[in-house]
Amino acid sequence: MGAQQLTGRRAIVTGSNSGIGLGIAEALAAAGAEVVINSFTDSDEDHALAADLAARHGVAVRYIAADMSKPDDCRALVERAGGCDILVNNAGIQHVCAIPDFPTEKWDAIVAINMSSAFHTTAAALPGMYDAGWGRVVNVASAHGLTASPYKAAYVAAKHGVVGLTKVTALEAAGKGVTANAICPGYVLTPIVENQIPDQMKTHGMDRETVIREVMLSRQPSGEFATVEQMGGTAVFLCSDAAAQITGTTISVDGGWTAL
Ligand code: NAD
Repeated sequence: MGAQQLTGRRAIVTGSNSGIGLGIAEALAAAGAEVVINSFTDSDEDHALAADLAARHGVAVRYIAADMSKPDDCRALVERAGGCDILVNNAGIQHVCAIPDFPTEKWDAIVAINMSSAFHTTAAALPGMYDAGWGRVVNVASAHGLTASPYKAAYVAAKHGVVGLTKVTALEAAGKGVTANAICPGYVLTPIVENQIPDQMKTHGMDRETVIREVMLSRQPSGEFATVEQMGGTAVFLCSDAAAQITGTTISVDGGWTAL
């Protein structure tokens, strides 16, 4: 793969001011793509992130604030970007709680941000991709898009939904030069994982190290966290010519979790 294989392509990565989204934005910029990074905030730090990526990779990088819990914001993100060749639906949140106590507002927020946002951005981005005869939709699902864990009802339901949406997108886009696939990460040590450690400690009555070892990485036969750089490399691969016939499928980057 050439270092600048994505020169001339414009990418939007939702939820990319931290964690996996930022790792994917970095990898796409390193491969030569113009990148739009996003979150719901609009701080100096957000815009500084864009400036830093642009300076280090010599590509145009913009930060566009848009709240992925709001359908109009999702569509406006694509419009304000001027459309895109590569759409990475990555924004996501988590809440860990047993079903009888699961707060309705958390269910609604997780379904909106983790699943429905991908529908709205995809709907806005596909016409331009069809016109161009080239496009890549990369949905960041999860091992929880293929398997389940207790206490994560909304997240598991939303991520299974993302995998389903990925398949439908692929079928509708087939033959138009546009592919759609889902990356299914296992545990990656980002803020979303850090933030659920206290809840897991409470739910399981365990200390931090025991939660990491026995609740999180016990599912991951490699015994190691996956990394944001690995997610970035996988996204760049899905955007490459080698992946032109890979569509409607999932790529697990989970240390063997879903092989169990
Ligand atoms: P993270 O918390 O670092 O990143 C989440 C990103 O989403 C942040 O940039 C945040 O600002 C953004 N976001 C949250 N709410 C938003 C909203 N309303 N509008 C716009 N942006 C919003 O966590 P992460 O681990 O990098 O998660 C990224 C994606 O990867 C998520 O979809 C997550 O479900 C998925 N994932 C993560 C792991 C893991 O172990 N970290 C595993 C599997 C899947």
